[in-house]
Amino acid sequence: MIYDAIIIGSGLAGLNAALGLSKRGKVLLITKEKLKDSNTWYAQGGIAAAIGPTDSIQKHIDDTLIAGHYKNDMKAVEFIIKRAPEAIQQLRKLGIKFTTINEQKFSLHREGGHREARVIHHKDQTGKAIEEGLIKKIKSKKNITIIENAFAKDLIIENGECVGVSVIQKSRTKNWFGKITVLATGGFGQLYKKTTNPTGATGDGIAIAARAKAQLKDLHYVQFHPTALDIAKSPLPLLTEALRGAGAYLVNQKGERFMVKKHKLAELAPRDIVSSIIVNEQKKGQVSLDLRHIKKSALKKNFPAIYKIIIANNFNPDTEVIPITPAAHYSCGGVATNLKGETSIKRLYACGEVAYTGLHGANRLASNSLLEALIMSNQVINAPMENIKIKKRDVEKPMNKKSILLKSDLPTIESLKNIMWEHAGIIQSKSGLQRGLKKIQKLQKNYKAKNYIPENMLLTAILVIKSALVNLEK
Ligand SMILES: Cc1cc2nc3c(=O)[nH]c(=O)nc-3n(C[C@H](O)[C@H](O)[C@H](O)COP(=O)(O)OP(=O)(O)OC[C@H]3O[C@@H](n4cnc5c(N)ncnc54)[C@H](O)[C@@H]3O)c2cc1C
Repeated sequence: MIYDAIIIGSGLAGLNAALGLSKRGKVLLITKEKLKDSNTWYAQGGIAAAIGPTDSIQKHIDDTLIAGHYKNDMKAVEFIIKRAPEAIQQLRKLGIKFTTINEQKFSLHREGGHREARVIHHKDQTGKAIEEGLIKKIKSKKNITIIENAFAKDLIIENGECVGVSVIQKSRTKNWFGKITVLATGGFGQLYKKTTNPTGATGDGIAIAARAKAQLKDLHYVQFHPTALDIAKSPLPLLTEALRGAGAYLVNQKGERFMVKKHKLAELAPRDIVSSIIVNEQKKGQVSLDLRHIKKSALKKNFPAIYKIIIANNFNPDTEVIPITPAAHYSCGGVATNLKGETSIKRLYACGEVAYTGLHGANRLASNSLLEALIMSNQVINAPMENIKIKKRDVEKPMNKKSILLKSDLPTIESLKNIMWEHAGIIQSKSGLQRGLKKIQKLQKNYKAKNYIPENMLLTAILVIKSALVNLEK
């Protein structure tokens, strides 16, 4: 059978694309773990949209460009930011509830790089509210076939067109065919020792697209979130920037608010700036978040999930400062698309964090990513679905000797993460990147098992470093 559309991934981008495309035909949605397993689920802060009384689209555009160091694509910025207010209404119509002050007004948070409070949110669990709402809708659609625990291995390319995807399900490889295929596989934070991204964010989509020779862009623009809880866990729990928006301070070991001297927006300077200043402070000692002056009742009411995380990790936000560290958070680059979501390969689309539209430039403005995932998956819904003839027939066969991921792969992955953190982290140099590249290439050569996820991680890491090196040469 040939589906009208195949969607790979069940975060906001994949779910929204599946929902929209199901109005036009039969959709196959595959995802490598459970439907809810995604970065989207963990999004705390919210979605940025210029709806406040003193805000404007132009201000939101300007903040996006400043945060992105003007490396953004202007057309993408205007296209996406202009559509933000209607995106909020779209989510509301889907039944997703946002925190409100009264019947007419949304509660608006302020985050790093935003000169206005413009982050619409559901308490501090916006992503979970969106995922739950969309999953409920998806499950009610007869036109959508959902396959969980299905790992997309590679795209099927015939005559230069993408005609489907080869998937591993229950230890068997199966080919699925579609008139269009949508990559919505998210980012690659798991390449780094310290990350806020859940375990599924291994960059599979980048590796899959690279093997199919799709055009990739700006992979080196990785955003490091300044404030993850600094504990011995992976992923590290995120302490949303909205906490700083609500008045939390960054303090060094001496208890000094160091950001005040460094940037006019102090703790709310763009993320890349705050992260690199923290890294320098960390050389002198532990950096922490000070919440002690924020009322416990306000903290509990506005940030209930974060409050629980802090307490569960044996910290008391009322009496002590909370240790934090920057951590890999978001991939600004990815599979290059135009504003229709089309990639360089015919019939292959990409949206969400796996894709590069040019919105973010060198550094994403906080809470612009859920927005991009929504707007760009809306675009993919309009894709032409021309009939296709497929040479390769349906094949299902037992998996070859390779596995998706084994426990025995963990040392390789651990080494990779350490190398990426040390050589391709927040502060980079040409010689450091070159050394990192050599180490990863050696790791790749010595990795004999060749299981799919480690292979994808190694390939993606190499592409990220090569992209960083090319960028330094410019
Ligand atoms: C802790 C945290 C907080 C965040 N907070 C915010 C915020 O407040 N505001 C904001 O705008 N952004 C935030 N972000 C970023 C934002 O959540 C993501 O950029 C966005 O959710 C990405 O959506 P997506 O649909 O592209 O990918 P994801 O939500 O990551 O979904 C990717 C999907 O693809 C599947 N997949 C991956 N590889 C394969 C494969 N090989 N085969 C099959 N399926 C596969 C995954 O299992 C998953 O279902 C946050 C991110 C994190 C980690």
